[in-house]
Amino acid sequence: MLEPYFYRDNELTVEGVTLADIAKKEGTPCYVYSSAAILERYQAYDRAFGIAPHQVYYAVKANSNLSLLRMMAEAGAGFDIVSGGELFRVLKAGGDPAKVVFSGVGKSREEVEYAIASGIHSFNCESEAELALINSIAARHDVSARAALRVNPNVDARTHPYISTGLHDHKFGINIDHVKEIYDRAAGLGHLKLEGVSCHIGSQLLDTKPLLEALDGVLALVEKLRAAGHPIQELDMGGGLGVAYTDEQQPPSTETYIQLVCKKTAGLGLKLMVEPGRSIVASAGVLLTRVMYRKTTANKEFVIVDAAMNDLIRPALYQAHHEIVPLRHRDAVTITADVVGPVCESGDFFARDRELANVFSGDYVALMTAGAYGFVQASNYNSRPRAAEVMVDGAGWKVIRKRETFEDLVRGE
Ligand SMILES: *Cc1c(COP(=O)(O)O)cnc(C)c1O
Repeated sequence: MLEPYFYRDNELTVEGVTLADIAKKEGTPCYVYSSAAILERYQAYDRAFGIAPHQVYYAVKANSNLSLLRMMAEAGAGFDIVSGGELFRVLKAGGDPAKVVFSGVGKSREEVEYAIASGIHSFNCESEAELALINSIAARHDVSARAALRVNPNVDARTHPYISTGLHDHKFGINIDHVKEIYDRAAGLGHLKLEGVSCHIGSQLLDTKPLLEALDGVLALVEKLRAAGHPIQELDMGGGLGVAYTDEQQPPSTETYIQLVCKKTAGLGLKLMVEPGRSIVASAGVLLTRVMYRKTTANKEFVIVDAAMNDLIRPALYQAHHEIVPLRHRDAVTITADVVGPVCESGDFFARDRELANVFSGDYVALMTAGAYGFVQASNYNSRPRAAEVMVDGAGWKVIRKRETFEDLVRGE
């Protein structure tokens, strides 16, 4: 796997570009993504399936910048969306609607209308009432809408509770024991093509075991559905593969996981679908920020940076760990400090009691592995304009989202 960020002459670089140059030119906070790393991660999925019929649907919610989506569309990716807004982005970026699957527990009537009118591939449905709504809208458009029920296999993904979705206690999917009776009833509705099943048990999975356990359950269900006369042809295994936020975390390799899926499904005549988000974009991105102040209290050292929880909420929301490294490596001296932002919340921290390089006011640092669930969760809290986003491509870079201005903050008020 390509490790896009490394030091050259003590300067952190990506694809031959010195990150400090980007920070100086575009300001901070600033997200930077490596196009080569993103494409490599996407192609690793695509290639791993070999000759098995398949489609990779990039999960747009992980990072929905238009330039990134355009790049993915050109590489042949499909898209997993969870809202009408994400469909709008995909279409705007030139994505093929015939390669879009629509997931999510609460699709509105307007969103279903928009998706059917756009001609998406299929809906991953999470309730019987949703199937009925899709059927009625498809009837009005005089089409048959492809729909797959999202199965809740009651498997513990053993990840953070907020990103675990495959237990019966979670709001997601339909209890695997009730799926067949719903297909039986829905088959009579007339405007649905019930040709698939889908499943997504959580995110940041560091072990393939729960994924394969869920797959076993879903394959048993496919057999049961086919025996009852439902022509199941598609199997969507969702996303969920984790990434290494620290050196200790060892995520499963994409190749190993996909090959295990292919082995279990060989000869079943199923089109295989996956919806990876994090594992494609997380390690391709960093958040650049500048050290503003250092201050020492009775028992703590603080490094105050110009990025905050409104730019990257993962540490506050999921107790997530992001490595913090200097853009210019000075010497081997380290400090132990809390790295915090300017927002008026004690939850506004990036690291606590972290050993890091001895950085000073004016130095730049990078929060690593920030390409997924970073900018997309950014807000304007504390009336902070959202950060710029930059895409590096070969030896150059371009701004793919301008830093917001104060005027942007009050637009629409
Ligand atoms: C969030 C989500 C994904 C992507 O998950 P990652 O962990 O980012 O790979 C895929 N499918 C569904 C239905 C999701 O909700």
